[in-house]
Amino acid sequence: MRLLVTGGAGFIGSHYVRRLLSGACPGHEETYVTVLDKLTYAGNTANLPMDHPRLTLVRGDVCDRRLLLDTLPGHDAVVHFAAESHVDRSIHDASVFARTNVVGTQNLLDSCLHTGVRKVVHVSTDEVYGSIGEGSWTEDHPLLPNSPYAASKAGADLMARAYWRTHGLDVSVTRCSNNYGPYQHPEKMIPRFVTNLLDGRDVPLYGDGRHMREWLHVDDHCRAVQLVLDKGEPGARYNIGGLELSNEELTRRLLRLCGADWSRVRPVADRKGHDRRYSVDDTRIRDELGFEPRVPLDEGLAGAVRWYRDNRAWWEPLTHTDGEAG
Ligand code: NAD
Repeated sequence: MRLLVTGGAGFIGSHYVRRLLSGACPGHEETYVTVLDKLTYAGNTANLPMDHPRLTLVRGDVCDRRLLLDTLPGHDAVVHFAAESHVDRSIHDASVFARTNVVGTQNLLDSCLHTGVRKVVHVSTDEVYGSIGEGSWTEDHPLLPNSPYAASKAGADLMARAYWRTHGLDVSVTRCSNNYGPYQHPEKMIPRFVTNLLDGRDVPLYGDGRHMREWLHVDDHCRAVQLVLDKGEPGARYNIGGLELSNEELTRRLLRLCGADWSRVRPVADRKGHDRRYSVDDTRIRDELGFEPRVPLDEGLAGAVRWYRDNRAWWEPLTHTDGEAG
């Protein structure tokens, strides 16, 4: 099989590619991977086994139609991770989010249609649903995104549906909760907190810290994406959940793992429009595709802290920006 992975130099995409090329995916021992990535501030070739004989990197933009029409022929499937992914950045300037996430996805789907690509997995997010006080969203819940990031991902998610419904393109969509693990850019909450603590600095906690998020190890998310690629139904959307924690509780666990206490927490003004709670019902992917997360949260968090402790050379050059954590 020949697989094209967009955004394969970012946090989740590179984990997916490393996993696939390591032989961890039964039936894909011979699969060739083309990573198509613009290498924005979030993309990094150091995340990839660049010398691997089954890996090719194409540096390029998902909005570049000519490049896609040249690159896609010969590929059997596409896994689409490429996106602008940081909510805070979308609050400061949403234009690149609309361009990459909405227009880029439409361009990719259209190019797949024109080059005969058999299957597309579009990696969406739980944030497309908005915020929920109680209970959990099933895949049939209306999309009510709140941040410009979530709105752009909802646009992409609906575009995927439209290309399936209108053109019969075989597209499946995943909507996963928050990921954590190695190689995540230190602008995001967990690596931001851990690298600050490792550097002896305070951690910025938004508002009252009672925002609820589900956390899933990136390896579990990538395993779920693989299941959807191999067995997912055309047109289906699959929620992928994690373990629910308040930001305050997550902060306590990270402090403990880094040997620090609450005196290192600096409360900061809440993010504009900050969603209170996300919660997905992921019965469908469990029942239909047999998905079960494998990494217990405490084990996964401890492993992530160890990774950031041991890989300072990877993250130190990336920590010179001064936004809040998201
Ligand atoms: P990331 O920001 O770490 O990586 C994004 C990658 O896309 C980078 O390598 C970047 O260079 C590339 N990219 C950006 N714009 C591009 C363009 N125009 N053309 C080609 N490549 C481009 O993001 P991530 O955290 O790895 O997220 C990957 C995907 O998973 C995104 O679609 C995101 O919405 C989704 N997702 C993320 C999470 C999470 O917790 N991080 C949860 C659910 C879903």
